[in-house]
Amino acid sequence: MSKPVVPTQTLRRAADLAAAGLIAPGHVEAVERVAALYSVAVTPSLVALMNRADPNDPIARQFVPSAAELMTAPEERRDPIGDETHSPVRGIVHRYPDRVLLTPLLVCPVYCRFCFRRARVGDADGTLSEAELDAALAYVAARPDLREVIVTGGDPLMLPPGRIKALVDRVGAIPHVEVLRFHSRVPVADPERVTDELAKALRREAGSDLALWLAVHVNHPRELSAATRAALARLADAGLPLLSQTVLLKGVNDSPEILEDLMRALVRNRVRPYYLHHPDLAPGTSHFRPSIAEGQALMRALRGRLSGIAQPTYVLDIPGGAGKVPIGPGYWNEEAGSVSDPVGRSHDYRGAASRPVPDQ
Ligand SMILES: *Cc1c(COP(=O)(O)O)cnc(C)c1O
Ligand code: SF4
Repeated sequence: MSKPVVPTQTLRRAADLAAAGLIAPGHVEAVERVAALYSVAVTPSLVALMNRADPNDPIARQFVPSAAELMTAPEERRDPIGDETHSPVRGIVHRYPDRVLLTPLLVCPVYCRFCFRRARVGDADGTLSEAELDAALAYVAARPDLREVIVTGGDPLMLPPGRIKALVDRVGAIPHVEVLRFHSRVPVADPERVTDELAKALRREAGSDLALWLAVHVNHPRELSAATRAALARLADAGLPLLSQTVLLKGVNDSPEILEDLMRALVRNRVRPYYLHHPDLAPGTSHFRPSIAEGQALMRALRGRLSGIAQPTYVLDIPGGAGKVPIGPGYWNEEAGSVSDPVGRSHDYRGAASRPVPDQ
């Protein structure tokens, strides 16, 4: 059997996926129907990580479209976390008092099959014009309560470094904004884009107090290829604190061993695990969603196995836009006055918990 070739271009059409051996010829028609509903892109870097002999390959499962996406469950919605209802001006989502999302574009290097914004991403018309970006930044500048701007998309690191640098400078010029956070999948999906020029663009100007942070979307330990590790090192060496976001996905990372390997690999690469997201109710994604009880059991397993700095917070973004909340597991049992240890044994804490604080 000949070794499959790795394509040199991003694959976007069902026929290209079939030619690369990523979908069976009999699935081309169904995948064409999927591609008409949701954007498709698979970069050569990700194809190189896929084991095409494994029908359940966890990398392929995240990026190669499947007929399962044609089934929309009744609870799923086009705008699962209410971005659109919380958007006062184009390109801004304002849900919390102290921070906003800024989405300068809706283009990504790859399109994840479980994406919560899948009904909107990939639309070139989603790129803000200069006037729209001005209006979005004017919205931030007019609200002194806003301390943090979170640049997401789409993927903001798809912008040319010069545009990123201009954005950093403009946000840095708004006196009440203290933190500028970028969310990106580029270090995983297209690590060659993380050049020294890009890393430099993500540095604040001398004399500015703006703190820049970067959160990387990573779901499986195999995503941390040599090129991705080099990209993360370049960003960390440029002085950016790195965080990770992982989506808990059935058939991709819903096992304690895989999550353990992932969190350890992140910490080794100077990335602090931040969130483990329960998947949102995006259309055509029910085959990816575990139950919350399964997610909690995985979090318990991690607590028993891993260092505190390797623990993500398991969160749910409440459908409709009520916000993100941690969904456990909890270790304190109020009724029994007991606390559970990392391996699940219960310990009595009644006396200690109810002892009154002595008068001063
Ligand atoms: C997720 C999200 C944020 C960021 O939340 P953090 O908990 O600070 O990471 C901010 N605004 C909106 C609208 C969001 O969806
Ligand atoms: S990189 Fe993020 S925004 Fe883009 S498709 Fe994947 S999950 Fe969606």
